[in-house]
Amino acid sequence: MNDIFPKAFYNILQSHPRRYLGQNFLIDNNVINKISETAELTNHDTVLEIGPGFGILTKYLADSVSEIIAIEKDTLLFNYLKDNLTAYNNLKIINADFLEIDLTAIFGNKKIKVVSNLPYSVASQIIFKLLESGLNIERMILMVQKEMGERVCSVPNNKIYGAFTVLVQSYIDTRIRFKVSPNSFWPKPNVDSVVIELIPRETQLVSSAERIMFNKIVKSAFHSRRKKMINNLKNLTELSKLYAVYEELGFDANTRAEMLSLFDFINLTRALIKLYY
Ligand code: SAM
Repeated sequence: MNDIFPKAFYNILQSHPRRYLGQNFLIDNNVINKISETAELTNHDTVLEIGPGFGILTKYLADSVSEIIAIEKDTLLFNYLKDNLTAYNNLKIINADFLEIDLTAIFGNKKIKVVSNLPYSVASQIIFKLLESGLNIERMILMVQKEMGERVCSVPNNKIYGAFTVLVQSYIDTRIRFKVSPNSFWPKPNVDSVVIELIPRETQLVSSAERIMFNKIVKSAFHSRRKKMINNLKNLTELSKLYAVYEELGFDANTRAEMLSLFDFINLTRALIKLYY
């Protein structure tokens, strides 16, 4: 354990940390510094933090930005934050499950940055909620488990490139910013971590009219990685139609999903939509 924690922390730790809430708290000031540097915070920013924990990153962020809204599911931690972070009048803490909360009601169309050390067990659900929320997000700086970060930022012809990669990248540009050692947390997790940066594109690559079909195609395409993609797509339409689309797009019959780029999946979606309408 580390000096960074206040004494009160130990007192309320009796039932903490709660593993099911992914509670691995940051104890490394260098990492906290690097996260805020990466977020390029300004005093005009509104920041959303998911899972402020004991507020170590929260305080740091609150010092640099105009407004911070932090959503914490654990009521014990929420009460601690409410009592101990009173000095920050630009900080609003909400006691709620992020996955249940109505984000539009809180942020409307306000431009925000999302900065968070995510609870790893629900990180992918949180990322999809943010991506699908329609919020006006300028950038996201997120700490995630290393394997997840690598999957989000992966490229074709790679074992870890999959439906998750393509779906996330269809909304947003992704890159790994830096690695974080287990020693930067208490309790020390069994996994390595990375901080990833997600930046929305100027224009959306997949329109809302194409979205349902795109998601269906990507999920089906990767359904069984050992199979040729055409066999995974058979449940979507007749084989003859699929072969016609393959020919139009210049895909080989042996094509596997992991060989296709995001743009190939977008073209595949558009060609299949043409068949339906
Ligand atoms: N930000 C703190 C830090 O860096 O030390 C804590 C990060 S810890 C990895 C994840 C935090 O998310 C915990 O405080 C946990 O209670 C909270 N949490 C877990 N699931 C949540 C959810 N569904 N909604 C909101 N907060 C959640």
